[in-house]
Formats: sequence, structure tokens, C-alpha cells
Amino acid sequence: MEISNSGRAFTRRSVLNFALAAGASSMFPVAAHAEAPAAPKGAKLVLLGTKGGPRVGGNRSNPANALIVDGVTYIIDTGMGVTAQVVKAGIDLASIRTILISHMHSDHQLEFGNLVYNIWVSGALRQPVDAYGPAGLEDMARDFWQLNRLDVATRMEDEGRADPSKLLRAHDFTKKDGLVMQDERVKVTAFTTPHPPLENLAYRFETPYGVVVYSGDTAYNPALADFARDADVLVHEVLYLPGVDALVKRANGTPAFRKHIVESHTAAEQVGMIAAQARAKKLVLSHFGPGDMEWITDEMWRAETARHFDGEIVVGRDLLEIPLG
Ligand SMILES: [Zn+2]
Ligand SMILES: [Zn+2]
Repeated sequence: MEISNSGRAFTRRSVLNFALAAGASSMFPVAAHAEAPAAPKGAKLVLLGTKGGPRVGGNRSNPANALIVDGVTYIIDTGMGVTAQVVKAGIDLASIRTILISHMHSDHQLEFGNLVYNIWVSGALRQPVDAYGPAGLEDMARDFWQLNRLDVATRMEDEGRADPSKLLRAHDFTKKDGLVMQDERVKVTAFTTPHPPLENLAYRFETPYGVVVYSGDTAYNPALADFARDADVLVHEVLYLPGVDALVKRANGTPAFRKHIVESHTAAEQVGMIAAQARAKKLVLSHFGPGDMEWITDEMWRAETARHFDGEIVVGRDLLEIPLG
């Protein structure tokens, strides 16, 4: 707004409008300090990135999810691109209070520090963010601030920003299983599953609107069905074996690479077995392996999975919203 060039007389209203538009709110406390609207009630899961693996490109972003409960956002895994996907999904960065990491493969944590940085630099880091994950997460948070210390110190001094390192509270989950965190909206428990050569934390989210279980990356593990018992939504990683051969060939992969993929993930048919055993109400396929080969259709993913599961199957895609309750 270019009031000085408008050539018209300033009325009180035009000055008020200018002040509000310019954010000069302290001049007009009545208009400026209106109560923020109450957070919307309800819960939904948003698939932010549904491709398995760290390769960037194609129609799917790397692994990330948002569970939103009564307007508060819990981010589950932070693969490359998570911040852009959060923004695309229309999720307020300031609503992110909790981050959960399933395991330390880069496709699940490469943008962990950068997500928090991006919340901070956009002016939306007004409350602490608590992050939970396997041992090593606390080191990763500390190292991230060390890596970016020059920029952060400059912006703190130059732009008067608060110290972001104090607003990220990382917590290594060093137990095998059990309670990770609980607040007035969500109770989160973890279950360790094999994902050779690493271990992976599957998470169970109990909300007033239903239960979501997230497998993370896991080898076929019948015990996961007990952890996922009666879930309203089971989000499970998935592998299409004929596609794995094409993927290994494309990557000039060694037999060891193929062995790693097959032995540390769950084939589509086996995912159906887990969902059936768990009596999950809805199965959501995500973390597609491979996730960027267009010749593998939704119907192919679904048909493999449906061999053993006759409940609802959702073939996930980026930015898909799954309402709870
Ligand atoms: Zn992965
Ligand atoms: Zn992994």
C-alpha cells in the first residue's frame, strides 16, 4: 500500500486499515488482539511422502506423515521434502509440536533438523517441539545446530530471533517398547521391529477419534499384528517384488543390495497377512518399494495385498488425507 502517493486525505479509517495491513498492530490494540479462532476438533492423517528410499524424484516425495489431532500436528518421519509437503498440504507450521522418527535411515530423517529450522525461520517456532526417535536423535539435533551455527547466530543477532536450539527438545527412546509420549490428545507407544541391519520403531497413536498404527520400515514381522490389533488405520510399508528387480537393475545394484531390500522390508502379500491378523479396519499402503515406477499400478499393489486381507485397502499417495472417527 502506497499511502504517501495516493494523493487523498487520510481519514482515520484509512490510517487504521494501513496500520493493520502493515502489521503495525500495537497502535490499535482492540483490532489487533482479537482472539485466535479455536482449533478445529477432529483428527486426520495426511500422507506427506509415500515413496520408499532416499532417491529424490518422481511423483512421490520421501517418507513423511502428519497426524493432526484437534489442530495440533504430530509429524511422523522427516524424509527429504517434508517441509514443502507440509506447506503444500496447508498445514500450519506453528501447529507442529511433536516429531517422531521411526529409524535412522536417511529417507526417514534427512530433513529432521531442517524441518525445525524452517519452522523457526518462518517465524512459526513459538513453542518447544519435542522429537522422539531411536538412540542418536539427541546427537543429531545437537550436531544440526552446530552445523548451522553461523547462520543461526547471524539471524539471532541481525533479526532478533530467539535461539531455536532451545526450542527443539530431542529425546532418544532407549527402551525396546512401551510408552513414548502422552499429552491431552494422543498417547504414543512404540514397538521395535527388525529392519536389518537396523531396528525400527513402529508407533501406535491412540486418539479420542481412533487408533493409527504406523509400521515404519520393517521386515515381515507377524508380531507387529499384535501391536496393531484393531487399529482403525494401519499404515504399512510395502514392497512389490517384481519391481524390486527392476529397481536393482536401474541402480546398478549388487546382489547384496537386492538382499538388503527384500530381507528388511515386507512384500505386499505379507502386508495383507499382517492387516488380516491385526483385524485392522483400514489398511493404508505407503513407503512404496519401488515408489517411482509408473508401470506398477494401484490395482497391482491392491491385488497383491488383497490376497490375504478382505478389509478396506487404500493405496496411498502424497497429500492424501485419511479422516479419523
Ligand atoms: Zn525407508
Ligand atoms: Zn529403512
